[in-house]
Amino acid sequence: MNDTPSGAARGPVATLRRIAFLMERQREETRRIEAFRNAARTILPLPEEEVRARAEAGTLTELPGIGKSTAAVITDACRGVVPERLQRLEATAGPLARGGEELRALLRGDLHSHSDWSDGGSPLEEMAMTAMELGHDYLVLTDHSPRLRVANGLSAERLARQLGVVDAVNEHLGGAFTLLKGIEVDILDDGSLDQTPEMLGRLDVRVASVHSKLKMDEAPMTRRMVAAVRDPHTNVLAHCTGRLVTGNRGTRPPSRFDAKAVFTACAEEGVAVEINSRPERRDPPTRLLELARDLGCLFSIDSDAHAPGQLDMLDHGAARATEAGIDPDRIVNTWDRDRLLTWASARL
Ligand SMILES: [Zn+2]
Ligand SMILES: [Zn+2]
Repeated sequence: MNDTPSGAARGPVATLRRIAFLMERQREETRRIEAFRNAARTILPLPEEEVRARAEAGTLTELPGIGKSTAAVITDACRGVVPERLQRLEATAGPLARGGEELRALLRGDLHSHSDWSDGGSPLEEMAMTAMELGHDYLVLTDHSPRLRVANGLSAERLARQLGVVDAVNEHLGGAFTLLKGIEVDILDDGSLDQTPEMLGRLDVRVASVHSKLKMDEAPMTRRMVAAVRDPHTNVLAHCTGRLVTGNRGTRPPSRFDAKAVFTACAEEGVAVEINSRPERRDPPTRLLELARDLGCLFSIDSDAHAPGQLDMLDHGAARATEAGIDPDRIVNTWDRDRLLTWASARL
C-alpha cells in the first residue's frame, strides 16, 4: 500500500479499506475491522454522486452496514479530508519488524495464505485485493486440505470449484497481479500428501505441512517429512517444526526430526524451506534456519496470513532471513512470477 502517500486523502472506499488493513495489521478485533470492510462493500457499487449527497445530507447511516463511525469516515473522505482515525493509525504504522527492510522490498509475492474457504477470515478476493495494494505481483492462495477438518479443509470437489473462482477473480484484476492457485496440503502419517495427484497437478504452487501427530518419534517423523519432500508435487515445506512460541493458542514444543536429513532432501529436490512470518511460530528456529542455509536450501518467506492485514507480516520473516545472512536469490519469492512458476512445475 505504498502507492499513496500516507498523508494524502483517498476516496471513501480506499479510506475504509486502508483503515481496516491497518487495524488488522495491529491485530485489533475482527468484528470492529469488519465494520469498515462492510461499509466499503456497501458504497462500492453506488454512484459517487449519491455517496457525496448522502454524506452532505447526513443519510449514510440509512444504508445497510454503515454506522456512525464509518459514516464519519466516508464524509471526511468525500470532503478530501484524511479522517482522524486514519491519521492516528498511519502515525503508528511503522514496519512490524526492524532489520529486514531491504529484503522486504525485494519480495514480489507470498506463497502461503488462507481465505474463508478454509480457516481464513476473509473472502479470497479480499485477500487478493489487499495483496495487490501491498505491491505484490502475486499471492498464492493455499487453503487447507480435506483431512484438516477443524480448518474446513477443501475436498477435491471444493478445490476444483475454488480454482474456477480464482480464474474469475483474476479476470478482474488485470495482468499486473495474479492470484495463483495453491494448497497447504497436509503431510499424512506416512508422508503422502492429502489431496489427489490430479488436483495437485492442476495447482501452481503446493505448500506441504505437518498438522497432526506433531509428537511422533524422531525416526518416523523424519521418514514422513523426507517422503513428503521427495514427492514431486511439493514446492515448499511449511512451518517445519510446528512449534508455537507465543500467542493466544499457547505454546507448543517443536517436533523432533533429523533436520539434516530433511533439509538435505529439500536441497536435493529444490524444495523451499519456509520461513514462516507469524510471530507465534517463528519457524524454523534460528539453529535450523542456519542449518538449512548451510545445506544449500532454497527458502520462501511466507505470511501464512489468515486475514488481509496479516499479509504484511512478511516484515518479520524478512528480518529473520536478513539476520541469518540468506542470499536473496535463494528466496523464491524474490523471483518474478514466471521464474517462480517454472521452478514450481520443474519436477512434475
Ligand atoms: Zn499450517
Ligand atoms: Zn497456513
